[in-house]
Amino acid sequence: MTNCFIKSCKNKSTIMLSYINRGYCDKHFMELIEKRVRKELRVNKIIDVKKKYNILADNSKEFLISKYILNSIFGRALKLEVVNEIKSKNTIVPTNMDREINSMFDAFLKNKSIPQKIGITILDNVLDEELMHIAKILNIKNATQEDRLALIEEVNSKHLIKFSLKKSLNHVREMENGKN
Ligand SMILES: [Zn+2]
Repeated sequence: MTNCFIKSCKNKSTIMLSYINRGYCDKHFMELIEKRVRKELRVNKIIDVKKKYNILADNSKEFLISKYILNSIFGRALKLEVVNEIKSKNTIVPTNMDREINSMFDAFLKNKSIPQKIGITILDNVLDEELMHIAKILNIKNATQEDRLALIEEVNSKHLIKFSLKKSLNHVREMENGKN
């Protein structure tokens, strides 16, 4: 493995990201992902600590990692209740970027309307490969990998990276929603 991308860091990298030629050690990889989630939450004003939130417990790595990252960002300032079903729109629903892309792209190809968002998602800009690595770092057992749509992987490797694909599909969803 190469050295961690962070120049001041002496650690060897433990993950090589598939979409960019950079390796990170565990600590700096966690920082990278937390920073991305934090930015997403801030830019889109997703969490307001004055409100109460639920988080859907489905025992997935996405559930455990969502909880971990929220705790790391907000600590006790955030009132978060673990629930077993979605009863309010202030419910954090565990998901990942690949799942979001797959469901949107599938609907797009079949010319069906893009599924609307249910609840709040905080990991929909984090790739499944990134979550699999976090699961390893956090020692989460039985983390299952997302099913991959072969077509998306092919598009991804040839023309686009998933981040831009996701952006485009979000744009389509917003247009369908009449937000634009
Ligand atoms: Zn490092």
